[in-house]
Amino acid sequence: MNPTHPASAAIDVTGLSKAYGDKVVLDGIDLTVPRGSVFSLLGPNGAGKTTTVQILSTLIRADGGAARVAGHDLAADPHSVRAAIGVTGQFSAVDNLITGEENMALMADLHHLDRHEGRRIIAELLDRFDLVDAARKPAATYSGGMRRRLDIAMTLIGSPDVIFLDEPTTGLDPSARHAVWQIVRDLVAGGVTVFLTTQYLEEADQLADRIAVLSGGRIVAEGTAEELKRLVPGGHVRLRFLDPAQLGRAAEVLGTGVRDDEALTLQVPGDGSVHTLRALLDALDNASVEVDSLTVHTPDLDDVFFAVTDRPGHEKVQTR
Ligand code: ADP
Repeated sequence: MNPTHPASAAIDVTGLSKAYGDKVVLDGIDLTVPRGSVFSLLGPNGAGKTTTVQILSTLIRADGGAARVAGHDLAADPHSVRAAIGVTGQFSAVDNLITGEENMALMADLHHLDRHEGRRIIAELLDRFDLVDAARKPAATYSGGMRRRLDIAMTLIGSPDVIFLDEPTTGLDPSARHAVWQIVRDLVAGGVTVFLTTQYLEEADQLADRIAVLSGGRIVAEGTAEELKRLVPGGHVRLRFLDPAQLGRAAEVLGTGVRDDEALTLQVPGDGSVHTLRALLDALDNASVEVDSLTVHTPDLDDVFFAVTDRPGHEKVQTR
């Protein structure tokens, strides 16, 4: 099955639009998220990320467009969508006045789990999220990272197929952030689809199978992190040779690049795609030049982000 085909998609969105008064927040966005993958919607503050999550999780209605989430039509069957998803927003569902365990028990009641089954699932989740020691303490005493872990654990009580994480690591310290990243990786390994919004480029780079950049109400770029990085100039391939003679010969054959005689390297412009690398190596091979090693340097996601969100007109950038 083609993983990007809508039939196998966990989320499939076409022409989604939303305005508040005169302010157009979403100006017709299209998205497809394959099942069992992490999709990251990346955008600056106010870009419309939360609005997208709120629409796809049935909290607010779109003005136009269509969406299927976990196989159900958002407009026709919002109840089935709701039953199949979990949402953790920037405003946590955790009640600070009661303990972590009590928060979990409330969630189990909401999902109508029987007492025995509820206890079993709660114990398992508290253990998995490293909250056993804190379980009987009020959530008010938790650190930001603990509260976020509890929030995600509460979402999992309903065994959702699709989880929306709206800026899950905003405000967390680096170690708590890494803990949340590991949770996301484990969820996806267990078959869940994660729709993640973030302002952090590194987070999208670390976690997402595919990334869409939202700016000015439109998706201005979409692809894997590697595809997006190839959109901006500055990529290069560094070739290292065994001796100065081979380096000299390579420079002659390729007729381009920055040569470093001491390091025995030649740095040539290139996007690091298989096609480019093959052409490069074939040319050297034909001239009987042996390459000792090769590294590809792609621009980072910051370069991409600033390039695509600064563009006038916001037309979509093609990744291929
Ligand atoms: P993000 O999550 O990317 O920071 P949001 O989706 O929260 O962006 O907001 C997108 C834009 O929509 C912002 O300009 C925000 O002020 C506006 N907005 C969001 N909710 C409302 C609302 N209920 N009424 C009016 N404007 C809103």
